[in-house]
Amino acid sequence: MTDHTAAPAASPRSERFPAGMDRDYLMLIDGEWVAASGGETFSCLDPYENRSWGRVPAATVEDVDQAVRAARRAFDEDGWSRTPAAERAGLLRRLAGLIEEHAEELAFTQVHENGKLISEMLPGARAMAAHARYVAGLAENHHGATLPARPGFTAYTVREPVGVVAAITPWNSPLTLLSWKLFPALAAGCTLVIKPSEVAPTSTLRLAELCMEAGFPKGVVNVVTGFGQPTGAALAGHPDVDKIAFTGSTAAGKAMLSAAAPRIGRVTLELGGKSPNIVFADADLDNAVHGVMGGIFAATGQTCMAGSRVLVQDSVYDEFVEALSAAADKLVLGDPLDPATDVGPLACRNQFDKVLHYIDIGQSEGSHLAAGGVRDSSTAELERGLFVRPTVFSGVDNSSRLAQEEIFGPVASVVRFTGEDDATRLANDVDFGLAAAVWTRDVGRAHRMVRRLRAGTVWVNAYRVVHHAVPFGGFKQSGIGRELGPDALDDYTETKSVWIDEGNPQMFGRH
Ligand code: NAD
Repeated sequence: MTDHTAAPAASPRSERFPAGMDRDYLMLIDGEWVAASGGETFSCLDPYENRSWGRVPAATVEDVDQAVRAARRAFDEDGWSRTPAAERAGLLRRLAGLIEEHAEELAFTQVHENGKLISEMLPGARAMAAHARYVAGLAENHHGATLPARPGFTAYTVREPVGVVAAITPWNSPLTLLSWKLFPALAAGCTLVIKPSEVAPTSTLRLAELCMEAGFPKGVVNVVTGFGQPTGAALAGHPDVDKIAFTGSTAAGKAMLSAAAPRIGRVTLELGGKSPNIVFADADLDNAVHGVMGGIFAATGQTCMAGSRVLVQDSVYDEFVEALSAAADKLVLGDPLDPATDVGPLACRNQFDKVLHYIDIGQSEGSHLAAGGVRDSSTAELERGLFVRPTVFSGVDNSSRLAQEEIFGPVASVVRFTGEDDATRLANDVDFGLAAAVWTRDVGRAHRMVRRLRAGTVWVNAYRVVHHAVPFGGFKQSGIGRELGPDALDDYTETKSVWIDEGNPQMFGRH
C-alpha cells in the first residue's frame, strides 16, 4: 500500500476523490500486501456521493488461514510474545506519533467510507494518538503480584499474552473501535488478525500500514478484508485463534460465542444498545434537549450508545416533545466534510433501508410522528446521498418494536413516565444495557438513579462522553467485558500462578 494522498479536512468537492484513493487495495498478511487468493474484490461506497470507489480484496477461507498462521508464527516462533514490555510500549508511542501526523488523512478516509462528520472524525483520529500513549504506559505497568500464600512457599502471578486475537469490527467508527482492541492487544504481546467491516475497510488498511511503519514485526498485525461470510466466520471459527475481540450487532455477537465455543475461545463483545435518556421535570430542559439531540442525532444515530429511547416525565412531556421536534427540524443535513453540517447521510444502503423500514413500523404501531420521518431529498445534493430527516416519535409504548429494537439511525422514541420507579422500570425493561443518562438538578435523585440503572455507562446531565481512561462496555445483551480504562490489558492476558517451594519436606498428598 502506497500512494495515499493526505487531503485537507475541508477539501472542496472536486478534491473528494483525490488521485490514489479510488483504486485497488491490497490486504496485509505476514508483512506482505496481497490480493485475495481467489482474485475477487468488492467495492466501497461513499454514502454522500452515493457512488462506488475503491476495490478491496474479498479474502477467502485460505487467506484467513494464512493470516492466522502468520499471527501464530509471530507470536510463538518469532518471539513477539516475549518482547520486553518497554519495547512494545516504545512501538506504540511511535505509532501514536504516526497517527498524529496522519490524523487528517485517517479522518478523511473514514468520512469517505461511512459519511460521518469530519468535525467528529478528526478529533477522534487525534484522540487515538493519546489513547495509544496511555496504553503504552499501561504496558509498562501491567504485571502480576507476589501473594501472601502458605508459609514455606513463595507464590506470585505473571500476566502472559493470550495469543492470537481476531479483531472483528463494524463500520460506524472503524478506527476508534479497532484501536480499543489493537492497542491493548499489542501492549500485552498478542498478535492480531483484523477483519474490518466490508462497509469501511480502507481506513483499517491504512492504520495497519502505519503499524508496519512504526516497526511492529511482520505477522504481528494482519488484516483480511471481506464480508461476515465467509471471511469473518472463517476467522472467528479458526481453531488457532485464542481470543475474539468483537464489536458489532448483537446477532453477530451470538455467532461469535458459538464460533468460539468448540475451543473455549476467549471472547469479548461490544454489542448493540437501546439506551434510555431520562429527563426529569426538574432538569434544565434546554440543556436536556441539547443532550438528547446529541445522544440520538450525532453520527446520524449510528452509534452503539445512541440515546434512542427518550424517557420524559409526564409533567413536562408535551413541552419537551415540542422543543425536541422543533430543534430536530432545524438540523442542517449535508456534506459531512462541511463543518457547518449537523447531520450526515446514513452509512450504507442497507442501513438507510432499515431506518426507513423502522419509521414505517413506528407509524403502523400507532406512535405519533412529531418530526422528520422521511428521506430528505429537498436538494439535488441530498437526493443523491442516503439522507433521512432527524426523526422524533412521541407517544411511544416502551414495549413496541420502535422502543425495543436497535434501529441505528436518527430516530428518537419518546416514552412517558411518572416518577423514579416508573422511569427505572421502563429504562431497564429492554434486552440491552449499554448506556443510560439522567437529566435532573436533584443530586440525590441522580445518585439513586445511577445505582438503579442496569447499564455499563451512566451519564448525569451529559451524554456520549467517552475517554480512553474510563472503561466502556455493556450489561445484558450489550456485551461481555470492558474496553478502555486502566484494566484494558486484562482481557488480552492470561494469569499464571507460580508456587516456589522454599525447602519444605516433600509429602505425598500435600495440598
Ligand atoms: P455487524 O454485526 O453486522 O458487523 C460487524 C462485523 O462483524 C463486520 O466486520 C462484519 O463483517 C462481521 N460479521 C457479521 N456477521 C459475522 C459472522 N457471522 N461471523 C463473523 N463476522 C461477522 O455490525 P455493523 O452493522 O457493522 O455495526 C453496527 C452494530 O455494531 C450495531 O449493532 C452497533 O450497536 C454495534 N456497535 C457496538 C459498539 C459498542 O461498543 N458496544 C460500538 C459500535 C457499534
